[in-house]
Amino acid sequence: FFIAFEGGDGAGKTTQIRKIAEHLESLGIAAPIVTREPGGTEAGVRIREVVLGGEGVGPRSEALLFAADRAHHVSALIEPALEQGRVVLTDRYIDSSLAYQAAGRELSAEEVANLSRWATTGLVPHLTVVLDVAPETGAARTASRGEENHLDAEGLEFRQRVRAAYLDLAAREPSRYVVVDANRDADAVAVDIRAVVEAELAR
Ligand code: C5P
Ligand code: MG
Repeated sequence: FFIAFEGGDGAGKTTQIRKIAEHLESLGIAAPIVTREPGGTEAGVRIREVVLGGEGVGPRSEALLFAADRAHHVSALIEPALEQGRVVLTDRYIDSSLAYQAAGRELSAEEVANLSRWATTGLVPHLTVVLDVAPETGAARTASRGEENHLDAEGLEFRQRVRAAYLDLAAREPSRYVVVDANRDADAVAVDIRAVVEAELAR
């Protein structure tokens, strides 16, 4: 099973993915693979440094770097793990590019989608959990983490475009998406995620 966790900065993806991985392990599910984008592989870590390291690359270059990270992530890590029958949980995937590079940076959604499709040879998650967070809540959380967040310079409008893009993607394909209200505290969010992930694994 391949499950993606998506959502704006400060939605709580990293926290929730750790919680659900621990929960699955406690149920006796063979060590779920927890990974992330960008930076799920060694090459990916280096790509992450370039794309997030303040080099000031433009939107197209940024889109290609995220796609390069994703291509290697799929071929070197995700696909081999799925072939072994493992559960793979990823912190961000294709929809991050549709939300940030397309909606956020205002590149063509169709072009960004095609780029990701090419990079991944069409691998899509069985389930995508969208952690829906209001721009103000997300910004408050990244600020309280003391995280230097590049979105602080973009303003809440950027976060709002990202949020709207995720909700739109989820609305288009309700059978493959679940939207969870991530404005609540982490334990309440975790309860909902357990229910949807357990239902997915039981299918
Ligand atoms: O999820 P994580 O905090 O690791 O993401 C790092 C940063 O990369 C975030 O600030 C996010 O805004 C940005 N990002 C992006 N486009 C993507 C994926 C992540 O701008 N496709
Ligand atoms: Mg995170």
